[in-house]
Amino acid sequence: AKDLGRNTYSFFSKEMNTMMLRRFELEEQMHGALERNEFELYYQPQFDVKKQKIMGVEALLRWHNSALGNVTPDEFIPIAEHTGLIIPIGRFVIKQALMFLNEWQNTHHRKVTMAVNLSPCQFRDSELLSFIKSSLKETNVSADNLELEITEGVLMSGQSHIHDALIEISALGIKLSMDDFGTGYSSLSYLRQYAFDVLKIDQSFISGIPLNKADSELVNTIIAMAHSLGLTVVAEGVETKEQLKLLEELGCDLVQGYYFSKPIKARHLIDFSVNYM
Ligand code: C2E
Ligand code: CA
Ligand code: CA
Ligand code: CA
Repeated sequence: AKDLGRNTYSFFSKEMNTMMLRRFELEEQMHGALERNEFELYYQPQFDVKKQKIMGVEALLRWHNSALGNVTPDEFIPIAEHTGLIIPIGRFVIKQALMFLNEWQNTHHRKVTMAVNLSPCQFRDSELLSFIKSSLKETNVSADNLELEITEGVLMSGQSHIHDALIEISALGIKLSMDDFGTGYSSLSYLRQYAFDVLKIDQSFISGIPLNKADSELVNTIIAMAHSLGLTVVAEGVETKEQLKLLEELGCDLVQGYYFSKPIKARHLIDFSVNYM
């Protein structure tokens, strides 16, 4: 038993060691990654279910580093948050996404929405709102074409500066989107308190439909509830025709997922979207 204990211990410490080394390396490489131009935004279209048209895109960050290769956002975003690098990186994302939106709208002469993910940590940046305002101005994008996706975690903190920022975001006419709905401590009161415009049903509920009856029933209820609050509903992670069919029957407004398109580079999106404008 003693031996087993020691082995277990050394097993974990080896794992821990590997994890910490990886983390250290990521952190080290992340400093300077912006300057080296290693970040790139990909865009995933959001389709109107009825019209079969692209109504907007979500900007999703990609990091390619010569030493580490491609690093997924699920791995690097938490580290960016921890180190505070999420603030300059987040600004890069906002600016880049708006610049692209302007170009894209000019190409197609149609208004489309750009959804950008905001990490809770970005609210610690007291200049966040003024940065967004000046970026909108510089890129000539109107506020209601920008949508900020936040998760319930942001609201849970209950911090007053976050409260104030959300009120100001709405007052500016920027859209607010509740991301990953259903995974956290979903509180309906948040949806009303902050004048959310969009609710995104998390992928974990969509993956089970239409076969899983409990998930289908839940998705049905979420859509009805969201509509009664006047929200636009986006289903995330739509991968099959069957999922799309049920979502259409349930009155879901927009769908996003591999069934239509993975997140793609800016120039690919311009070509791809021609047929869906
Ligand atoms: P998210 O905001 O929930 O983004 C949706 C994720 O689902 C994306 O993963 C997207 O590529 C993936 N996805 C979309 N459709 C499908 C599908 O049909 N099937 C499957 N299996 N997956 C699908 P990605 O790009 O790896 O991003 C992961 C997370 O990293 C995002 O989750 C978001 O929380 C975070 N993230 C990405 N870019 C940014 C950013 O610029 N800023 C911040 N703060 N977070 C970001
Ligand atoms: Ca998102
Ligand atoms: Ca999501
Ligand atoms: Ca609003």
